[in-house]
Amino acid sequence: MKKLILLSLFSLTLYNCNDPIVFDQKKIRSQITLEETKSILFTLSSNEMKGRDSNTGGYFKAADFVIAYFKENRITPFYPEYKDSLVTQGVLSYNIVGNIGNYKPKQKTVMIGAHLDHLGIKETEGDIIYNGANDNAAGSTAVIQIARFLAQYKWKQNIIIALFADEEKGLKGAYHLAERIIEEGVDLAYMVNFEMIGTTLTSGENQVYLTGYKRSNMADEMNKISSDFVQFLPQAKELNLFKRSDNYAFHEVFNVPAQTLSSFDFKNFDFYHKAGDEAEKLNMENMNQIISTSAFTLAKLLEEQVTISLIQKQ
Ligand SMILES: [Zn+2]
Repeated sequence: MKKLILLSLFSLTLYNCNDPIVFDQKKIRSQITLEETKSILFTLSSNEMKGRDSNTGGYFKAADFVIAYFKENRITPFYPEYKDSLVTQGVLSYNIVGNIGNYKPKQKTVMIGAHLDHLGIKETEGDIIYNGANDNAAGSTAVIQIARFLAQYKWKQNIIIALFADEEKGLKGAYHLAERIIEEGVDLAYMVNFEMIGTTLTSGENQVYLTGYKRSNMADEMNKISSDFVQFLPQAKELNLFKRSDNYAFHEVFNVPAQTLSSFDFKNFDFYHKAGDEAEKLNMENMNQIISTSAFTLAKLLEEQVTISLIQKQ
């Protein structure tokens, strides 16, 4: 009997420390609920958030919401009170930076991020609040739900969760954080960014495209885990979207794979940077599917310690 107890204690310890975690798509779907996706998205894009700009103060309301969510869900602060402060165009703002587990300086780090800010209020006729539901309450919702999911487990990498300020003013928040963490010696392996995942990609449901698709093995490795999830979008290459969101700051500063997942393909949403970018226009079921598939895919990449590297052009 004693032996049995000892043996089961031993196997329990082993399971907790070394055995691979069995990630089950169905289980993940039941944890990343549609109700929560809707509730976060509708909160972040409500009129109360005044378009999430630091000038209107709405950004800070959205930031308070994210910080409260982090505190409730065991996402620990990477900086005091989660804040990485910066001044953009004379206005003080901050990125929100959290951490899964305890940060270990000697470990490789993976970053998952999205910009939380949007265009604020513009004195145009009619609707003056630019709610930015798709751009980028949607990506922010994805990042915080994925963070809550990942925070249930122990990982062999550091995982930094970042919500950026002032993307719409020229990727200011992302550059600030990238330059700060390289100075602080963070060993960034790769960065995954989420932008505008609120509508259904024309090629099909539960799909995204990756910017800078051919610059690294990220899309291939993700598709090995979730087949056909990550698409190549020709317009993304033509318009060089790789350089147009926060991922680019991390690529430039660290020279590592840093890329954006998105489902906005220029055919499926007419309200990009318009006041009509509102929650009611989004496909919440599809967005929830994208978030849970991303959570599953990222969990497998992390668990299997898959190397993501740049593909050097010949
Ligand atoms: Zn955006």
